[in-house]
Amino acid sequence: MSVKADQLKIVLYPHPVLRKKAKPLSEITPEVRDVAARMIFLMHEAPGVGLAAPQVGLPWRLFVANPTGKPEDDRVFINPVLRDPGEEPEAYEEGCLSLPDIQASVTRPKLITVEAIGLDGKKFTLTSDELPARIWQHEIDHLDGVLILDRMTPIDKLSNRRAIKELEAEAAAATKKR
Ligand SMILES: [Zn+2]
Repeated sequence: MSVKADQLKIVLYPHPVLRKKAKPLSEITPEVRDVAARMIFLMHEAPGVGLAAPQVGLPWRLFVANPTGKPEDDRVFINPVLRDPGEEPEAYEEGCLSLPDIQASVTRPKLITVEAIGLDGKKFTLTSDELPARIWQHEIDHLDGVLILDRMTPIDKLSNRRAIKELEAEAAAATKKR
């Protein structure tokens, strides 16, 4: 499969790729580098703090993140794995670039460690109990086909019902036009 990185765009719910379980990458090819660069561009353009490969239509275990928006804080996570979640859960308001106009309080462990491979092929480990921890968990959910829709409270689901229905209706209309 050849990917035209410069043509990748953020896909919106309910695109089926967002529900696929992504596959690990076996090597870091120039194509992977091009895709990561494009994803970093799209993340800043949105703007957002993280973007997972399924969100640009690719079922790959890769995401990019930048908790501050400063270029030096761009980071690429390949085949990431979470470990050592803290016992203390925290509810925090999350949005998603594939779910525009939807905000929901999501409860996750506050403290977590992520292990991943960087674009240089080297393995790295990071631990956080702040925004990065939140981003890693949200993005790794994407690699497993999980969206904040699945984690929001029934009350949030109700208050976001209109926005969710609108996204579903737009996708249905686009399918009919094709
Ligand atoms: Zn998201």
